[in-house]
Amino acid sequence: MPRVLLLLPAAGYRNEDFLSAAQKLGVEVVAAADYCHRLAPLMGMSPIFSLPFDQPEIAAQQALVSLGRRVDAVLAVDDHGLELAALLREKLGLPGNPLQAVRATRDKLAFRQLLKTQGFNCPHFRAAMSEADALALAPSLQYPVVVKARRLSASRGVVRADDAASFVQVVAQVRRIQASADREAAQLGLIVEDFIPGGEYALEGLLENGELRVLALFDKPDPLDGPYFEETVYVTPSRLPAGTQAAIAGEVQRACALARLVSGPVHAEMRVNEQGIWLLEVAARSIGGLCGRMLNHRLGMPLEEVILRHALGMPVPLSANNEAAGVMMIPVPGRGIFHGATGLIAARAVPGVSDIRITVQPGQLVAPPPEGSGYLGFIFSRAAAPEAAEAALRAAHAKLAFEIQADLPLTRACAQ
Ligand code: ADP
Repeated sequence: MPRVLLLLPAAGYRNEDFLSAAQKLGVEVVAAADYCHRLAPLMGMSPIFSLPFDQPEIAAQQALVSLGRRVDAVLAVDDHGLELAALLREKLGLPGNPLQAVRATRDKLAFRQLLKTQGFNCPHFRAAMSEADALALAPSLQYPVVVKARRLSASRGVVRADDAASFVQVVAQVRRIQASADREAAQLGLIVEDFIPGGEYALEGLLENGELRVLALFDKPDPLDGPYFEETVYVTPSRLPAGTQAAIAGEVQRACALARLVSGPVHAEMRVNEQGIWLLEVAARSIGGLCGRMLNHRLGMPLEEVILRHALGMPVPLSANNEAAGVMMIPVPGRGIFHGATGLIAARAVPGVSDIRITVQPGQLVAPPPEGSGYLGFIFSRAAAPEAAEAALRAAHAKLAFEIQADLPLTRACAQ
């Protein structure tokens, strides 16, 4: 029986999907989580141990001691465990992306530097280690710009500034968000880059010996013009012309080769305008949240099964179903305590809606980007054409109402 070490984030959306894919494939799972002592142990699974994902060297030593018998693969369920998974694979002599490649693509500055050297479209960017460094840039910038925390994800700490006065406020805001995030985030500083106008798209792929297999290209039909960049709707297949779709795949393949990503899932985000394709991010992971579920029908199996099969060298026989699919990450309308959702029955009855999952718990503190990085839940749709898949999501969302009590100062789930 193959044995896999799964790195499960405590607050991960997809832990159960990975565990059930492993069960379906008859794979033994050794589970490691980054939960801290105040959170309940995860799903009563055994064996399970706790590792500090954000300190990969320390966590790798602990894992090697606790692991026991050999594992055939080490997989991170989401972004948090990526570096640790790559480090463990290196220490265990398992194939996969090199640690350096994973690091370079997680670091927004390193990724920009990589693109710039190789003739990709790349916005003008500057690094700023401190708030003072950033503010010194203010007079020389061509506005609008986007200020980003160098290493956070899900649009957390990403804010547009349109002039020097708002830039000062935005820098302070992003620094505050960084300081409340993971241990190292604030030390890494900020990036300030030119705003790239244009439509936004995302590519989901699988790297097999360095070759990119495109699993889906998504349109993001809602304008993402800022000042905050909350993701909402993804629809596939893309309505872009075939030539543009092929060009996007070509750019993602080229960026993966440049970054030395060779194996496993890839999620890339890009903007497209008259000057061409602008890669925003290429990450050695699959799509976040529960969004991957929208592909179950198109792929003929869950994305988590695709990833496990690939990691274990099993065949990945995907179906070629061309039905359209969509997902809406239900936006958080404002910061506060979530008390509940109404309208679910009517929303689920909208033609084309295949599922709705409310993932926040009553009593939970919620916040939209740039502070928060979660959603209230997910609406899924399937239809003959992408227009209908998108319309179903919007119709269902219009039937939902959420009770959120405005509130309390931001606290961390678990101070470490
Ligand atoms: P994260 O990894 O946190 O999602 P990204 O760098 O991908 O951070 O940025 C999040 C979102 O912010 C992008 O999806 C995009 O909508 C927007 N964005 C980021 N950089 C730019 C830019 N230079 N120009 C325009 N929009 C941007």
